[in-house]
Amino acid sequence: MSALPILMNHLADSSAAPELQIDPAAIAANTRLIASRTAGELMAVVKADGYGHDAALVARVALENGASWLGVTSIDEALRLRDAGLSAPILSWLNPVDADVDSAVRSDIDLAVPSLEHLAAIESAVIRSGRGKRARLHLYIDCGMARDGIAPQLWSELCRRVRIAERRGLVQAVGIMGHLGCAEDPGDPCNEIERLRFSWANRIARSARLRPGYRHLASTAATLTDPLSHYDLSRVGAGLVGIDPSTSTVLRGAMTLRSPIVGVRAAAEGTFVGYGHAWRSPRSTTLALVPLGYADGIPRAVSGHAEVQFRGRRHPVVGRISMDQVVIDVGDTHAVPGEMVTMFGPGDDGEPTIADWARWAGTIAHEIVTGIGARVRRNVTAQMPEVMS
Ligand SMILES: *Cc1c(COP(=O)(O)O)cnc(C)c1O
Repeated sequence: MSALPILMNHLADSSAAPELQIDPAAIAANTRLIASRTAGELMAVVKADGYGHDAALVARVALENGASWLGVTSIDEALRLRDAGLSAPILSWLNPVDADVDSAVRSDIDLAVPSLEHLAAIESAVIRSGRGKRARLHLYIDCGMARDGIAPQLWSELCRRVRIAERRGLVQAVGIMGHLGCAEDPGDPCNEIERLRFSWANRIARSARLRPGYRHLASTAATLTDPLSHYDLSRVGAGLVGIDPSTSTVLRGAMTLRSPIVGVRAAAEGTFVGYGHAWRSPRSTTLALVPLGYADGIPRAVSGHAEVQFRGRRHPVVGRISMDQVVIDVGDTHAVPGEMVTMFGPGDDGEPTIADWARWAGTIAHEIVTGIGARVRRNVTAQMPEVMS
């Protein structure tokens, strides 16, 4: 058989560079599946640039497929979504006390309140603006993680002060939020304790005469495994881009990372590869060079474990991961510079998945998708998903 047709299939144009392909159809399908599993509304969490998938893109696709809210950490991220033309309600939940509350209120961005100091700063900003426009607030209770959210001992005081600020026309309590620490393990007794703390917080808020329309507790894992956590709204990020920490569903990965081979060499048995000569070829073989390294989000920790797909087969990454490059042992395959290698994808054709890379690196898929470096070109798959009417 002539090698030519095989080569033509894999040969890229001469401008080929590493490319991260984002698949909106996968995001659409994941959103629809998750929306069908929630009792309440769905907030698309698009922090960290939509988990590395482009925040505005994920937001748009999610809103077209069943989400009605957007969620981010910082006010900056929220303002960028407004600049991109998104008009859905947006909640920002992680800001310093002296954040730019005025811009947030002016752009209809809801703010989480994780401390009494945050509340005081928000009230002052609203008074200072002189605009008479209320800040829309989500009171954030720490259900047990001791991370963000206000400590339970301060909760009734927060509720009392928010009620006073409401009566002064400064703020409106729109939501009450919590976050679960162990939702990835549905059997962990910590889930029930944290859920109970959340329902206690809601009772206290009620007795302080607050009437927020949105109580929200669940993120991806709890949304998929724990209906008792659903309340009025679920805040889901990872699931939209195909990551299910509870592994209870088949969600679809929305990223494919491919790269051209930029160098090929024949290597004799006993050839050492890369820094520290950490790998020694046990036989004569062909080595292919791929211009992606830890600066591009290929974790150095995968050294010695990772595989990529080349010409429909898995081949090992050998030697240490460098900052900008990795070496693939393609065996007796006659690779040619310009041929494409798939680092990871949804897994349809046997290529490694993001979950595989996370396992090889001893981390979680979230860290892989949010870690792809800035110099990797992004490309949205041309075909846009069907929009549910
Ligand atoms: C990131 C985050 C979420 C979304 O979590 P996923 O597991 O990605 O769905 C929800 N709520 C808060 C407070 C978060 O920080």
